[in-house]
Amino acid sequence: MVVAYPQTNPQPLDAYKTALEQFDRAVAHMSLPDGMADYLRYPRREFTVNFPVRRDDGRVEMFTGYRVHHNTALGASKGGLRYSPHVTLDEVRALAMWMTWKCALVNIPYGGAKGGVVVEPKTLSLSELERLTRRYASELAPLMSPQMDVPAPDMGTNAQVMAWIMDTYSMTVGYSVPAIVTGKPINVGGSEGRNEATGRGVVFVMMATLKKYGYTDPAKVKIIIQGFGNVGSNAALYAHELGYRVVGVSDVGGGLYNEEGLNIPEVLDYYQRNRSLRDYPKAEPVTNAELLIQPCDVLIPAALEGQIHQHNAPHIQARFIIEGANGPTTPEADDILNDKGVIVVPDILANSGGVIVSYFEWVQDLQAFFWDKAAVFAQLERIITAAYEKTNATAEKYKVDLRTAAQITAIQRVADAVMTRGFYP
Ligand code: NAD
Repeated sequence: MVVAYPQTNPQPLDAYKTALEQFDRAVAHMSLPDGMADYLRYPRREFTVNFPVRRDDGRVEMFTGYRVHHNTALGASKGGLRYSPHVTLDEVRALAMWMTWKCALVNIPYGGAKGGVVVEPKTLSLSELERLTRRYASELAPLMSPQMDVPAPDMGTNAQVMAWIMDTYSMTVGYSVPAIVTGKPINVGGSEGRNEATGRGVVFVMMATLKKYGYTDPAKVKIIIQGFGNVGSNAALYAHELGYRVVGVSDVGGGLYNEEGLNIPEVLDYYQRNRSLRDYPKAEPVTNAELLIQPCDVLIPAALEGQIHQHNAPHIQARFIIEGANGPTTPEADDILNDKGVIVVPDILANSGGVIVSYFEWVQDLQAFFWDKAAVFAQLERIITAAYEKTNATAEKYKVDLRTAAQITAIQRVADAVMTRGFYP
């Protein structure tokens, strides 16, 4: 029996407000040098571009894109590109700031960036998408290089989009530069395992959490996953392969719930054939709002920001939330969940598998020496598990929740690097 959702879902929310509030909460526990908190609150550079794209019918249409470099104290800025009609400069700022903390938390030599174009990619033909991508990439070219800023896929973009960006940049400079983007197809310098990396990292973090709390039998662990794209579907598949019981999944059109567990390879096959989960026969249909409050042990939001808020947080039944998406939980919901004793493993830790394997891809491109999948996944598990343990140690030291602990760890690393380098000039 599906639990009914008690009220309508109030949306949208302000991701940047959330990012700043999380930052302020962490900084309140720290003794940063004078001026440091102010400095780290601001993005270093913000780039807005307005550019024309010729549609297939000959019309020229204007589009707006952004790229924000939040901080570069630890290295080149790194972060995805999002194509969505809901992209705003504030959303990109939030995502760029989270990238700074994510890279610092997992201890890879990157700063944080994010970009986006205000477009519904589904309304473009493939050649329109290519023209839009190539023009956006050439507008960003002055701010990109393997040492300066390295984009990657995010919602609405994929490996093909990265290949077009890599080609556009390479044509501009006159030679092939695979390390200019990550998340590329393997035949042009992509890494084995990048496609599965974020979902797999989410599952590694979930396993470490379950182990800490004494959950030893995967067959007894019920998991709900919101979002069935790159992160959600790969997390679902890997969890299923390991013997966990995935009882609910969803995409933008709604979801499925079956308390006995879903056959994920079969659901994926159905989804690929029908491009929708609707009418899948071996489960009950649920709305996205209902999905989040069904009975389960682990809830993995893997769709978009702001899905867990003050209105639905009191109804959530999961004991653990492992954040696959960026910013899925509002600060108000965090307070409610912390009071209820729900363990929330934050996005900058839980979904860092993507940027960790992006880092491996960049290293492989720079060295022109490629690893096999087993090596990629072994290094991923090593780095993400170390970050999980470090976050737990910080949580115990400061007596704070895991989100605040992850932020404290990351902010301290960036602040230390800034102090070692000194404020220029
Ligand atoms: P994607 O575009 O592949 O998939 C997004 C999924 O969310 C789709 O199934 C879509 O149908 C669903 N969705 C969209 N709107 C929804 C809504 N209103 N309600 C429920 N479901 C909805 O994107 P992705 O790459 O899987 O990214 C998902 C999240 O994970 C984003 O927050 C992204 O920033 C984050 N993330 C992705 C990566 C990565 O490597 N892909 C890495 C780190 C974080």
